[in-house]
Amino acid sequence: MADCLFCGIAAGEIPATRVLESARTIAFQDINPQAPVHVLVIPKEHHPDLASLAGAGDGLLDEVAAQAALAASSLGVAESGYRIIFNTGPEAGQTVHHAHAHVLGGRPLTWPPG
Ligand code: 5GP
Ligand code: ZN
Repeated sequence: MADCLFCGIAAGEIPATRVLESARTIAFQDINPQAPVHVLVIPKEHHPDLASLAGAGDGLLDEVAAQAALAASSLGVAESGYRIIFNTGPEAGQTVHHAHAHVLGGRPLTWPPG
């Protein structure tokens, strides 16, 4: 999708520090990390949010979730624990309208979140 930051990253037009890639997803370091481990996992295909991604119904959301777990494992937080977040809409603070899973870990994470 034109003018979408994460489509640009998926296409390799915008640089990002990649952690993992699968057939239909990419995981890369968040530019403004909120924890020692803070990775974003995106589908290469544009979906504006989680509902759209889930609605695709073709296993793409499963692949994003599996890659999020794999990223946590490869970055060493599978045992200590991690959190996967899909911010959706303005009150949740979604700023990039290309669906993405945040994978956060490497420190104790407060609950409930702010
Ligand atoms: P949201 O607030 O939409 O849930 O999350 C967007 C995330 O994208 C934020 O955590 C932000 O730091 C990250 N981000 C924004 N622009 C860039 C960028 O150009 N590169 C990378 N790697 N992350 C970005
Ligand atoms: Zn996009």
